[in-house]
Parts: sequence; structure tokens; C-alpha cells
Amino acid sequence: MEAIGRIGFIGIGRMGWPMARRLIEAGYPVAVQDAVPGRAADFVQRHGGTAPANPADGADALITMLPTSRDVSAVLGAIGPSLKPGAVVIEMSSGEPSATRALAEGLAARGVAMVDAPVSGGVARAETGELAIMTGGAAEALARVDPLLRAMGTTITRCGDIGAGQAMKALNNLVSAAGFLVSVEALLIGSRFGLDPGVMVDVLNASTGMNNSTQRKLKQFVLSRKFDSGFGLDLMVKDLTIAMQVGRETATPAPLAAQTRELWAAAAALLGPGQDHTAAARFSEALAAGQISEQKG
Ligand code: NAD
Repeated sequence: MEAIGRIGFIGIGRMGWPMARRLIEAGYPVAVQDAVPGRAADFVQRHGGTAPANPADGADALITMLPTSRDVSAVLGAIGPSLKPGAVVIEMSSGEPSATRALAEGLAARGVAMVDAPVSGGVARAETGELAIMTGGAAEALARVDPLLRAMGTTITRCGDIGAGQAMKALNNLVSAAGFLVSVEALLIGSRFGLDPGVMVDVLNASTGMNNSTQRKLKQFVLSRKFDSGFGLDLMVKDLTIAMQVGRETATPAPLAAQTRELWAAAAALLGPGQDHTAAARFSEALAAGQISEQKG
């Protein structure tokens, strides 16, 4: 099994930037690219690596960390043909399993392998290299890229064949998104009753209502009114749409999942583009015509 030498990394956004930096710190030569002019050059100036016109050229592995599968298709359509036989594409975006499978088939015809390896843990855990990574693809290709994944994450779980990591990721975010909204609704009800929202979060975290939102989002981004977790509201809606797509493809009735997606989509429509996903609390507040911090008089 040939070790990975040169890496191309496409999409150095909020997540891709720290992930590419981790690879450089692990000693890999990394060629970066981003659609925002100057961003790749800025990255190279700060962290090293290179910013060539075509990072697929000569790469043993090409990592994609882009908003959607549509972006990944566009990038692979443009620079994928430069990949050499034997190279492997590591699709780390939270994408659509069916789209990724179609891309993998096209690449396989040219001797290029593809695996999916979406992540969880947000910007904070991307910075420290402690992401949870869920993978899909052939065992041999995944074994080959394992050292790269270990530079970015600590929990790496093979979920199945190509697309399985992305199905798992969408379902993870479904659970996370439902947990967030119901926790916010509980705080709204509690505030009206006269409970202190900060105390409520403490009690939830010591009780069976504890979830990732009660632990890492409510005080940090909602009660603080900062709404700056680093994960976009539009991306959450995209992930929930993928979860529903997987639900439809598997003919699984999922009324609560459907309701969750609709609520998040309505929040995105109401709040407009460019919002952090934690700002969805404002949508719940608008529905309740109140603020979480409000106390009963
Ligand atoms: P982001 O918008 O911050 O970064 C995406 C980057 O891709 C941007 O810098 C953008 O300019 C670039 N880009 C878009 N199209 C491109 C193209 N054609 N060529 C080159 N670059 C292009 O998004 P993000 O928050 O880093 O998320 C990336 C992926 O990771 C998404 O699929 C998201 O759902 C997923 N994700 C995000 C988080 C998070 O906390 N932010 C956590 C887990 C997973």
C-alpha cells in the first residue's frame, strides 16, 4: 500500500482552514485552494504549504471540504481529470450520499479511488485535531488515508461503503438539530414560568435532558446572545434536507424529522442568509413572541 505524500486541499473555510493546518503540522506537503480570492495565499503565508493553480496535479490525495455536494461536483469536474491513477479523493464535506456515490463511480473508471469522511465537532475541535470522523468506502482506501484522518480527528469510525459516512453525518445533525430546538423551547417555557435559563441549563446538564446543545451551545451562544458558533444556519438546513433525502430513499416514515427540517428551513427563511445556526433560537423566540432571558414578573 503506497503511502500518501502530496495532498491537495480544496475549501479552506471555517472548517477546512484548521484541518489543512493540522495536516501541515503533521508534516504533509499540502496544496490549498479556495474560491475566495487571496484566501489560499493568506493561508500559505500563515501556515505554509503551497497555493498552485491546480492542487490535483501530482496529488496522492485530494481532500474536499466544501459547502455542498454541488460544489464538490463542480470542483471535481474542473480539476478531477488532473488526478493521477492511484490517487484517492477524500470527500470530507457533509454531502449527499447518492451524489458522492455517482462521483465515486466516475472516478473509479479512471483508477482514482474515493472515500467519504465527513466530520463532527465544529471549528473548536477542528482547531485541536479532535474531530469525530465518520467514513465510508473500501477498507483498503480508508486504511491508506487513515494517517491523514488521524491528523485531523480522534474518533474515526467506518460506517460502511461509499456514502455511509455522509448518511451518518446527516442523521447525526438531525438528532443534534432536534435537540437544539427542543432545548430552546424548554428554556422559553421555563422563562415564562419564572425559571432562570442559566439555572435551567445547569440542571439539564446534571439530568437526563442533557445533550450537546445544553452542554456546548445554550450558554455559550444563545444566552450570551453571541450566536457565533461557526456553523452556518444554511448548512444545517442542507444537512437536514440530506437526512430527509436518505429517509425518502429508504422509505422510512419520519414525521418528527420532517417537522425538524421544516422548522429549521423556516428559521433560515425568517432570519435571512449568513446566520449562525444557533441564531435559530431567535426564530423560536419570534414564534413565542418573547426572549429566553425574560422572567415572569
Ligand atoms: P465555509 O462556508 O466556512 O467554507 C467553505 C469554503 O469552501 C469557503 O471558504 C468557500 O469559499 C469555499 N468554496 C466554495 N466553493 C468552492 C469552490 N468551487 N472551489 C474552492 N473553494 C470553494 O463552510 P464550513 O463551515 O467550513 O463547512 C464546510 C463543510 O463542512 C460543509 O459541508 C459543512 O456542512 C461541514 N461542517 C461544518 C461544520 C462547522 O462547524 N462549520 C462542522 C461539521 C461539518
